[in-house]
Amino acid sequence: MTRPDAPSGLNGRKKYNPDPAFAMSLSHVRGNPIDDAARWIAQARKTIVLTGAGVSTESGIPDFRSSEGLWARYDPQEYATLAAFLREPAKVWGMLAELEELLEAKPNAGHSALARLEAGGGVAGIVTQNVDGLHQAAGSRTVVEFHGHNRTFTCLGCGRQFTRAAVRAMTLVPGTRMPRPEPCPAGTPRRCMLKPDVVFFDEQIPPEALLGSEALLGGADLVLVVGTSCEVYPAADLPRQVRGQGGRIVEINLEPAAELAPDLLLQGRFGEVMPAVVDAWERLKA
Ligand SMILES: [Zn+2]
Repeated sequence: MTRPDAPSGLNGRKKYNPDPAFAMSLSHVRGNPIDDAARWIAQARKTIVLTGAGVSTESGIPDFRSSEGLWARYDPQEYATLAAFLREPAKVWGMLAELEELLEAKPNAGHSALARLEAGGGVAGIVTQNVDGLHQAAGSRTVVEFHGHNRTFTCLGCGRQFTRAAVRAMTLVPGTRMPRPEPCPAGTPRRCMLKPDVVFFDEQIPPEALLGSEALLGGADLVLVVGTSCEVYPAADLPRQVRGQGGRIVEINLEPAAELAPDLLLQGRFGEVMPAVVDAWERLKA
């Protein structure tokens, strides 16, 4: 129940955050918003990046939540929870095998630009909600994966971890797309069951990811929010935390996030806007 004297979140936010439209008009007065973003990065003590599905759609991975996405065809409650997996692993592997095919995608120009920005000292690291590993494939070094990844797979029976290549070489359980590893060592209490190290909907964010994002957050005074509507927690909290410690928010999105209220909005495609910002930043540094 809401207390009548409790300040409304929205009102509380509006007091401290410029309206995105205002931020845009302001930046037009002072110049190109691309140059503003580049200048803010150059001036920041520490810049971090939060990315979501939107950075991968331009690599051909449909947003899982979109109308053509994975969750339109596979109900996450039935296919993307640990409970469902433990109940019917072979069924869930039908979806996972399709996910594997999707994740064959290659990084795009935006991923490469972010890697270039990090290599040049322009960002401290990336927190991503994606499981596709495209930031690392593009050369980014410090990447915190809130929702895990599918580079490795863990047996829920014995805890052994397997690489993706090893899993691909395994035979399938007949009539399914579920790989069958060697039997778990004797005395293992549960049956052998391979699960990708992605975070299912009913699982906790990996502790190392929480620690990694806390470390990135410390001292950050600028966050680039890219390709995410910032609706899924805890990632959605990150921009608010940067603002809470006196920092600014730059949003790069095709569709502006409803609740974000950035200090600067660059509306456009990741693969075009991100390289333009990094090019401008490199010119400033030169
Ligand atoms: Zn095992």
